[in-house]
Amino acid sequence: MLRQALLAASRSGGVRTFVESAPFTRDVVRRFIAGETVDDALRVTRDLTGRGLAVTLDVLGEDVLDKGQAEATVKHYVELLGRLAELGLGDRAEVSLKLTAVGQALDEDLALENARRVCAAARSAGTTVTLDMEDHTTVESTLRILKELRRDHPSTGAVIQSYLRRAEEYCAELAYEGSRVRLCKGAYAAPEHVAFTGKADIDKSYVRCMRVLMSGKGYPMLATHDPRLINIAGTFALVNDRAPGSYEYQMLYGIRPQEQRRLAAEGERVRVYVAYGAEWYGYFMRRLAEKPANLRFFLRSMATR
Ligand code: FAD
Repeated sequence: MLRQALLAASRSGGVRTFVESAPFTRDVVRRFIAGETVDDALRVTRDLTGRGLAVTLDVLGEDVLDKGQAEATVKHYVELLGRLAELGLGDRAEVSLKLTAVGQALDEDLALENARRVCAAARSAGTTVTLDMEDHTTVESTLRILKELRRDHPSTGAVIQSYLRRAEEYCAELAYEGSRVRLCKGAYAAPEHVAFTGKADIDKSYVRCMRVLMSGKGYPMLATHDPRLINIAGTFALVNDRAPGSYEYQMLYGIRPQEQRRLAAEGERVRVYVAYGAEWYGYFMRRLAEKPANLRFFLRSMATR
């Protein structure tokens, strides 16, 4: 119930105005977001890579309904990728891209062309792009764009959300040689006929998907903070004879940082998803929805001002 309410609020203009303008918000937001500028993002990236972690950078922004704004997002990614190349970070940092930030809701072809430009910049920087998966209405379009992009940029990463009833089927289609697939539970509101809504069903689906990916020929990117699922991943790695580096763990910046470092110290490849930018509202509200304690922390900050 609370999760649904917060996810509904993540799309509400009124709540957005209140949350964004509240003086206490900024401190809480900083726990999950690297900052607002490219320099902030690069500072965090250097810090994390210095600790032996890999990074995927997300320029915050989504649901863009204006061509000019989509163009600005593409230019921002190109600039970011240029800076990563200058700093020689292309081997440790990739980027995550939301197609709705580059025009998917306006026109699928526009989003494809814009994503191509980001992929080309990533290639020049010696790195790659993963296409974030957004709400259920965008899944088929995102998979079509992925297929097109992979013709020229085969290392473009996909994301599959285990809450989708078709998740296992998608994983089976994507478990081929060279295919990078991030598996996550799913962070958006989705109706019952499209998605599992109970935690146990979503977790069981995650395990089924992980089995398919870890026994397949692709490169699984296991995005979860869930200790039970991380343990099961270790078992799948053993059973399928996968050495560390033939798959990776992924976690969000600010969430279970000690666990990120523990896995890396054990020789596992761990990538941290670092989001930055001024358009943090939707991303922040999804983080609140994932864990009620985050909401309590947020409300406490409000009460102590
Ligand atoms: P949960 O069962 O939600 O959490 C397990 C434990 O992790 C919790 O008990 C808690 O200890 C910790 N935890 C989880 N979330 C939080 C939090 N917000 N704050 C504090 N502690 C927390 N979703 C998409 O829909 N599309 C994407 O493209 C996408 N990309 C992602 C990329 C990465 C690298 C990661 C890690 C997640 C991504 N997600 C994406 C979000 C994902 O779908 C989940 O909503 C999120 O990861 C929480 O699920 P969980 O697997 O950690 O399990």
